Amino acid sequence: MSEVFANGAEYDYFIMKFCDRCQKYGDVFEGEKPCPIEDRINTAMMNDRVFPHEQVFRGDNGEWTCTEFENTEAE
Ligand code: SF4
Repeated sequence: MSEVFANGAEYDYFIMKFCDRCQKYGDVFEGEKPCPIEDRINTAMMNDRVFPHEQVFRGDNGEWTCTEFENTEAE
């Protein structure tokens, strides 16, 4: 079975490490278009089946990652 975030702390850590620093992130509260992957993560809180397992998963090192992450700090 594919894994989802175990709890809010794990989710918060992922958002802080990736989405908050990603060029694809969109703040819906600011009228921006949301990242479709992050949008699915949020929807998965009510329906596990939509979780974007192909892009967001726990790697061999035990840390969650997103294959579509684009660092805002990259040149
Ligand atoms: S591409 Fe990945 S890291 Fe970037 S905002 Fe979307 S879910 Fe977050």
